[in-house]
Amino acid sequence: MFGGGIRIGSVFGIEIRIDGSWVVIALLIAWGLYAQFRMVFEDLAPEPAAGLGIVTAALFFGSVLLHELSHSVVARSLGIPVAGITLFLFGGVTQTKLDAQSPGDEFKIAIVGPVTSIILAAVFWLLTVTVGAASPDPIAWALGYLGWINLALGIFNLLPGFPLDGGRVLRSILWKRSGSVTQATKGAARGGQIVAIGMIAIGLVQVFSGYLGGLWLAAIGWFLYQAAGASAANVVVRRMLRDLSAGDLMSPNPVTIPAGLTLADAVDHYFLRYDHSAFPVDDDGVVTGLLTLRAVRHVPRDQWDFIQVWRTMAPLDDIQCVASDLPMDQVLEQFESDEIDRVLVMDDGRVLGIITPRDVARWVQRSQELGITSTEG
Ligand SMILES: [Zn+2]
Repeated sequence: MFGGGIRIGSVFGIEIRIDGSWVVIALLIAWGLYAQFRMVFEDLAPEPAAGLGIVTAALFFGSVLLHELSHSVVARSLGIPVAGITLFLFGGVTQTKLDAQSPGDEFKIAIVGPVTSIILAAVFWLLTVTVGAASPDPIAWALGYLGWINLALGIFNLLPGFPLDGGRVLRSILWKRSGSVTQATKGAARGGQIVAIGMIAIGLVQVFSGYLGGLWLAAIGWFLYQAAGASAANVVVRRMLRDLSAGDLMSPNPVTIPAGLTLADAVDHYFLRYDHSAFPVDDDGVVTGLLTLRAVRHVPRDQWDFIQVWRTMAPLDDIQCVASDLPMDQVLEQFESDEIDRVLVMDDGRVLGIITPRDVARWVQRSQELGITSTEG
């Protein structure tokens, strides 16, 4: 989900992306508003109704964006770097490069979103009673609608279920009380699942009593239920990885390829023999680069007999290297934010090992199979 979506620009240096789902939702909302305008104001011609529908949908979009920006700005003011905002479905996610370091920070970052939405609701309400009162009815109606939708957004996000803002608030309170962020996350995620089940139940009751709109509520509940479980698992894994260093998890003593070998020999004796897609390149006992399967594939096959490994490899300067004592949660962060396939673990210019996302996944799976799924902290 993260990193995907279409980049639409940046505000205060915070990158903003929209998920494909948002395009569909935005069109549905604009269409729904158009239909509402035509229904409520029978004299309204199709063109102004469509214009109003689009402008109102855009203002709704802007409201959601302001909500997310408030999270980002507060996070950044607390020293937590923000990777970007992705808008999807009815809301968005603000992706930070680090988790909040204290319950107090977590509380501030979480609560500011719903507060922003409720302030926006108040602003639109004020506009409704001032500007709206002097404007044609459809404009007053649109302002009133924006007030209500922001109020609903604020209240919905305050529901005490992780990963909703209210769930993060709950987590910060549980965290402060117990001192354990893992326990707090599990508690808040359970809250998320209870809220989700409640939404699904209410949605289904509505459907069975003939109101098909209940399907939306049930669908959002289902989405929230999945997200609660996944987010909790993600936080627990990160927490486990924090206690581990790159040196603990790397595949040690990687097989190296001599720099002078031809690509044909490298393919026959290394790529086809070992289960690795990259090999450090050894030049007289010193690692000078990395030869990847992808780089070899870029060389036309009829040249493999004539081109040496050192001419095809990526030089060491272009490869992400980490020290063996770097905590694994930070290595994971590099995989996610830099979209790289591997890091070399190096101490004093010597290559000690390699880590790929697959190594991390395998470690997590093994730990779970062995029942080592929670650490305190
Ligand atoms: Zn929020």
